Amino acid sequence: MLDTINLILLSNIVIYLGFAGFLFKRGKKKAVVNSYLFVIFSAIFWTTAMIIFRSMPQSSSLFWCKVLYVVAIFPSYGLYLFSQVFPYGELPKIKQTAWTVIVSLTIAILVVLPGLIIKRVDIHPGLEKVIIWGNLYFLYFLYISGIIGYGLITLLRKYFKESGIVRAQLKYIFWGYFFGSGMAMFPNLLLPWMGIFKINWMGQILGIITIALTVYAIIAHRFMDIKLVLRKTSVFTASIITIIIPALFFDYLVRNYFTEIPSNIVTFSVIILAVLIFPSIKNYYYRLANKYFFSSLYDARQVIAELSEKLRSTLDISMIYDFVSGMLTNAFHAKAAGILTLDETSKKYVTRHNAGFATGGQNKFAGNKFLHEEYISKNRSIVAEELKSDKRPETAATMELLNKMGVEVLTPLNIKDKTIGLIALGPKESGDMYNDEDLQVLEIVGAQTAIAMENALLYDETRKFNINLKREVERATRDLRNANDQLKKLDQAKSDFISIASHQLRTPLTVIKGYVSMILEGNFGDLSPAEKDSLEIVFQSNERLIRLVENLLNISRIESGRLQYSLATVPLEKITDSVVEELTNYIKKNGLKFIYKKPTAPLPLVKIDEEKIRQVVLNLIDNAAKYTKQGSITVSLKKADGNIVFTVSDSGIGIKPEDLPNLFKKFSRGTGTSLVHTEGTGLGLYVARMMIEAHNGMIWAESDGEGRGSRFSFSLPVVSS
Ligand code: ADP
Repeated sequence: MLDTINLILLSNIVIYLGFAGFLFKRGKKKAVVNSYLFVIFSAIFWTTAMIIFRSMPQSSSLFWCKVLYVVAIFPSYGLYLFSQVFPYGELPKIKQTAWTVIVSLTIAILVVLPGLIIKRVDIHPGLEKVIIWGNLYFLYFLYISGIIGYGLITLLRKYFKESGIVRAQLKYIFWGYFFGSGMAMFPNLLLPWMGIFKINWMGQILGIITIALTVYAIIAHRFMDIKLVLRKTSVFTASIITIIIPALFFDYLVRNYFTEIPSNIVTFSVIILAVLIFPSIKNYYYRLANKYFFSSLYDARQVIAELSEKLRSTLDISMIYDFVSGMLTNAFHAKAAGILTLDETSKKYVTRHNAGFATGGQNKFAGNKFLHEEYISKNRSIVAEELKSDKRPETAATMELLNKMGVEVLTPLNIKDKTIGLIALGPKESGDMYNDEDLQVLEIVGAQTAIAMENALLYDETRKFNINLKREVERATRDLRNANDQLKKLDQAKSDFISIASHQLRTPLTVIKGYVSMILEGNFGDLSPAEKDSLEIVFQSNERLIRLVENLLNISRIESGRLQYSLATVPLEKITDSVVEELTNYIKKNGLKFIYKKPTAPLPLVKIDEEKIRQVVLNLIDNAAKYTKQGSITVSLKKADGNIVFTVSDSGIGIKPEDLPNLFKKFSRGTGTSLVHTEGTGLGLYVARMMIEAHNGMIWAESDGEGRGSRFSFSLPVVSS
């Protein structure tokens, strides 16, 4: 008889077979897989026996009933066996095995013997078969609940003893047992005892829970937090119930009291309404569940949002360490958290933050090339527990160190392809494993933290650099200021010296000049030509000395800002004429041709301090004479673009192109000049420039090169009429 229930039981068998196949293919530990395959197949036989029992006519019912109850011993015994074998594949002790086998056999025999446990089977058409129990049924009841209870206790004991993956596995298996098999005892053992047979096939279905969770525990690599699963299912169930109950009620109301409304439309609108409000209701329950029942579970989105917010608000590296470590400890209830940075040069990780790890004072840790390549560089976290079975010699030392310090997870802090550090986490307070969701959260946290750390470190570096720079600049400024003060003092001393010396020199030189010229003019009697020549030389040398002193005085006045100009509007020819006249004799005596190209028509006037410009003209012509051994000196004056231009050109030693830009600087002499003329000072042109520039004029030199003569010119603006 293939009724609905048998169909359900049949599909149950298919599901069991699926699990068996799955376990067979993916399971690793042989003893564990085999003992559980035994459980699954006994559950399949048990379900098959139920189908047969439900289908058989009265005549063979008692026989199949006994078969069913004997077969039912196997999955229960199998579960007990499995609880012993898991996780390390150890078989129970011989003595214990002997005892359990003897007890189970005894129960099986009691089932088979007439009238003791099962008396007879009654059939009520349309209802489940009714079994009339013998006096010893309680023994059967005790046996099944005892053996399952014993299994549960064993699992619980192991759960508290173990840690890490095994602990997580045990948790799944325990809840699977508890819900599946524990609950199955109601419809299949307890209710039938009270004569209720309506759902005595339910245990076979509930077995799915046990088997599903156990198979998952055996083959899963990394576990979902069981609380997450519970939260998901409970939120989902509560939401569905909340929608279905009012919907059914509403449907009922409309169908019974508002019969004029077509029922299709009602159903349709109820479904649409349900679909629309389902998400909000689910969210509501989700929040409720988080608040009251799963407060130990963290909300990944919230954690990440909070972290980014905090990281954005600081550039202080130690605050970043505090945030991240505090937040992760809170979210995961981790026993310890730490942050390390990678030192590029030594390739060692340096502890920057440690909350709870027993490092024994060690704060530098060598990186492991293999683990780096396999995990860190690929942005994958190292989960110590998962690597426990990894016995490679290359990683053994590192894994041992991690175990010793109680490091459970290492999450890379990577920026693009560069590793800047690691986040280390200790085990969870709950003893649970870090699950996939945790690791995903950690990866995101790692990426964000790495960026924040990089920014903070860069900022810190810049800040330190700035502080250093400021200190350096301050020091250099102080040095410079000192040097400058020193120089100013020296300069002042030099100016004072020059000023005093020049004043002291000027008077005697003027006296010499006066007497020599009087002698030369014959005031003290006639002179022989030889005497005259000698005195002429004395006179010229004295003149040069006067000019030198004048230059020195001028410089000291210029520098102290005491040089005064008394301006008058005059023709420049006037000054040129007088200087030319003064020097003609001297130049000619030196065997040079002296040409003065005086303009034919009078030139426009210039506004000048006559004395100063006269000095410039004297200096320039004197230089030409000094630096010319043979040939000629030509002086010219002309008007050009609103200026009067004075030029003196010579056929002398010329100027090297590299010297040209420097000639007008203080104390500057052309290279090699001192060989030609030893007593130069390099001041004449500097003073000339100062003076010409004070008249808003320009002064410059030109030369075609060494030995090819020079041209010195200055220009002065014409007075506008
Ligand atoms: P001094 O003549 O005392 O060295 P100046 O300031 O008058 O100082 O001239 C600076 C330098 O310019 C000279 O040392 C010389 O090298 C160069 N100089 C000046 N006039 C001439 C010139 N007419 N021909 C070649 N070089 C000159």
